[in-house]
Amino acid sequence: MAKTNPFAMAQQQLDAAAEKLGLEKSVHEFLRWPMKEIKVTLPVRMDDGSTRIFHGYRVQYNTARGPAKGGLRWHPDETLDTVRALSAWMTWKTSVVDLPLGGGKGGVTCNPKELSDTEKERLARAYMRAIWQNLGVTKDVPAPDVYTTPQIMAWMMDEYETLAGEHHPGVITGKPLPVGGSEGRGDATSRGGMAVTREAAMRLNLDLNGETMAIQGFGNAGQYAATLGSELLGLKLIAASDSKGGIYSDKGINPQALVKYKLQNDTLQGFPNTEPISNEELLKLKVAVLFPSALEQVITERNAGEIKCKILCELANGPTTPEADDILYQNKVFVLPDFLANAGGVTVSYFEQVQNTYNYYWELDEIHQKLDIKMTKAFQSVYAMSQREKINMRQAAYLVSVARVAEACRLRGWV
Ligand code: NAD
Repeated sequence: MAKTNPFAMAQQQLDAAAEKLGLEKSVHEFLRWPMKEIKVTLPVRMDDGSTRIFHGYRVQYNTARGPAKGGLRWHPDETLDTVRALSAWMTWKTSVVDLPLGGGKGGVTCNPKELSDTEKERLARAYMRAIWQNLGVTKDVPAPDVYTTPQIMAWMMDEYETLAGEHHPGVITGKPLPVGGSEGRGDATSRGGMAVTREAAMRLNLDLNGETMAIQGFGNAGQYAATLGSELLGLKLIAASDSKGGIYSDKGINPQALVKYKLQNDTLQGFPNTEPISNEELLKLKVAVLFPSALEQVITERNAGEIKCKILCELANGPTTPEADDILYQNKVFVLPDFLANAGGVTVSYFEQVQNTYNYYWELDEIHQKLDIKMTKAFQSVYAMSQREKINMRQAAYLVSVARVAEACRLRGWV
């Protein structure tokens, strides 16, 4: 089956929101396209002395609400259209959490698994040399995404500062702590997810303490969902999975011990006192909260009718298809849509940017408190919209975020 062009999908989602909001034709058409696209061709010296040519992109989708913000992805399938789609989604994400930022995204078509560290460093520096004049705290601030790391961010920041001739740590976020990274960035995505899960449970009159959770995907997002779900919400972990399969125990699984086991063995299989469970079965468990934390399109028309959780907190990007959304809504599954549920990451990235600008760094407690306030307010706006318009939380999140961006465009006199 041909894959849907992600940018066409992003435009369709906007079209639906524009119709519901009754957006003027000019505003709607303006928001369907990136405001600026940069394409660069990068010659990079390889370790064997040869030169390879890489293709890189940076898309600044919309900057009406503030400087563009969004990650850099290094992936063999990276295309201008994937970057455009991701930059549109970043625009809606920063808007839904009401950050004074726009949306952007960038990437290089490459397979980082085939590159040595020195080749990665030369590629990172080449990319920055090619686009640095378009970046900066008042223009556009990148961050890590798929296959890019804090170390790559540090190299890029260093290249930028070398070219600018002065310190500019805020030009990029997701940096290691000793060169201007922020406390609290590691678990920010999942911690933000816990805040909106707590709010959803309150609306459902559901006491989560002692209730159950299942987690699909056990990387950064999934591992922190396990530990924080237990620590902050009192949830009992009964199932978890990764690409090699899952484990289940109705008696409960100790999250810290499971994280340790995964880091030591690179698998969840064989964790004591558990039985195997497939990824497909895990999704259908009767739990209070399900955290899809791995891949796109795992909840579809095919299995949506069998999803039995009360709250579905999408830490992963795009785990639910639009057809599945309708079924879940009819079945009263409370869906926390990805660009709200996983916005904690970009929120703490924004805090990093602010701390860099002040050159004054906050304590961890302060980061946690500020993150919670942002996520709670975002939830409240989306929930109020969903109640008022009698629509699902994803549609409501689109209406809230698109309306804010449209208003900023109008106020600037752009449309
Ligand atoms: P990660 O690479 O650290 O972890 C991904 C996990 O998914 C791994 O445990 C992997 O084994 C598992 N996985 C892969 N294929 C699977 C399959 N078929 N079934 C079950 N598990 C499978 O990635 P991450 O940073 O945790 O990101 C996970 C998701 O969360 C992605 O959709 C990402 O876009 C989204 N997200 C992450 C962040 C963040 O800050 N880390 C922020 C926003 C969104």
